[in-house]
Amino acid sequence: FPFITVIGAGLAGSEAALAAASQGVRVRLHEMRPVKMTPAHRSGGFAELVCSNSLGGEGERQSKGLLQAELRSVGGGIVTAADASKLPAGNALAVERDEFSARVTRAVREHPLITVVDGEVEAVPEGITVIASGPLTSDALAADVARLTGSERLSFYDAAAPVIDFSSINMDVCWRAGRYDQSADYINCPFTKDEYLAFFGALEQARAHTPHDWEKLEFFEGCMPIEEIARRGVDTPRFGPMSPKGLDDPRTGRWPYAVAQLRQEDREGRLWSLVGFQTGLKWGDQKAVVQLIPGLNDAEIVRYGVMHRNTYLNAPQVLDSTLQLRADPQKFVAGVLAGTEGYLESAATGWLAGTNAARLAQGLTPLTPPAESMLGGLVRYLASANPKNFQPMNVNWALVPELPAPAPGPNGKVRKLGKHEKRPVLFWRGLNAFMAWAGEEVGLTVTPPPVPHGEESAE
Ligand code: FAD
Repeated sequence: FPFITVIGAGLAGSEAALAAASQGVRVRLHEMRPVKMTPAHRSGGFAELVCSNSLGGEGERQSKGLLQAELRSVGGGIVTAADASKLPAGNALAVERDEFSARVTRAVREHPLITVVDGEVEAVPEGITVIASGPLTSDALAADVARLTGSERLSFYDAAAPVIDFSSINMDVCWRAGRYDQSADYINCPFTKDEYLAFFGALEQARAHTPHDWEKLEFFEGCMPIEEIARRGVDTPRFGPMSPKGLDDPRTGRWPYAVAQLRQEDREGRLWSLVGFQTGLKWGDQKAVVQLIPGLNDAEIVRYGVMHRNTYLNAPQVLDSTLQLRADPQKFVAGVLAGTEGYLESAATGWLAGTNAARLAQGLTPLTPPAESMLGGLVRYLASANPKNFQPMNVNWALVPELPAPAPGPNGKVRKLGKHEKRPVLFWRGLNAFMAWAGEEVGLTVTPPPVPHGEESAE
């Protein structure tokens, strides 16, 4: 009888177990809570939301909205439980967290093909397995996954920098260059002294709002949060990550007072991270501080900086877009461990890993969703991102291919679509591609989901 193992009954593991069982495959699901707790979870319930209760913005203008719709179209267990536990929250899919977790727990425990085994897994078992033990994977298992993947270490305090959508960077202000005429791999944002002092003042104020827990942590000098660097004095950032040395501003021919640099994150050059700006600032404060950087005044932050204990693989080094480990294709990885960030992304990669593990158990080939779909864009990014300084990724519109350039109008000019016009087109292109793939290639029953006509939401 086809059979798989799943480790972890969080967002990814619960979804993986339900997806595999719905294919008629038996699942043994291991969960260590409540026998052994993590530092962030409070209960023994499955799919516990450890922080916010939101699974992201809904509707046709939201990248998370597209991922939700894709999962709804194939009856994903997490999004089904979320819809049933929904709270009013503008255009976001927010849930009553205890009810949500109870619904997922019930769906998993009552499934006739799923057997739940309580207790910690210390080593990855033989056979087809989905590893979905999350950002707080127990130490023993993290060590075994590191061994299996040839990784040096998986578990650390993660301090990630904000990632910006290239199309929102003002290249009339910023310019591409490397220091001292090295190759032009960086985007540079130049500060005058006044601009720098305004930026520093906002950073100091924002730091005063951050939870003090982080101050007790010891950081590696190389990934010190920008607010901690600023604590050492007004000039410390501009003698550190914001140094202007070797960067001639083409408009003045001189080095600016300070420079913020952005480094490319994806192959196409649509995602750029702020170098040395790893931060634990609250998201509203981060946005305000980042938008004080010259050239980033309208910056769209597609992934905010975060600081928390984290465990993840360097996905582009070890994972295929089917979520199989290259070193052992019987092993699938999902959730934060696979290099995603976010509840919904964890559930979505869980769905794909569970579906593909079930296919492998039935002698079928594991598949990758189409590039136009949000899930397809996410897993392709995981498998192909720059492995240097790889950091977990949320879904965003830069993960799916651009629309083809429109034909010129009668006046010979091309009218560029604004993001409000573009996003619904990307949404329907992605959802239709996903549903066609899930129906025709995966062989699932697909139901077109209801889609709210999304206004922009705060998410
Ligand atoms: P989890 O949901 O954590 O599931 C992993 C499961 O594996 C857990 O139940 C754990 O007990 C179990 N497990 C671990 N080791 C073993 C083992 N050896 N044997 C058996 N079971 C094991 N994302 C958001 O979208 N919004 C937020 O507000 C948010 N806040 C976060 C706050 C913190 C402190 C952290 C650490 C992360 C946060 N995230 C947030 C990121 C991420 O989306 C969540 O952590 C999400 O729960 C990840 O899903 P997962 O399935 O990968 O891991």
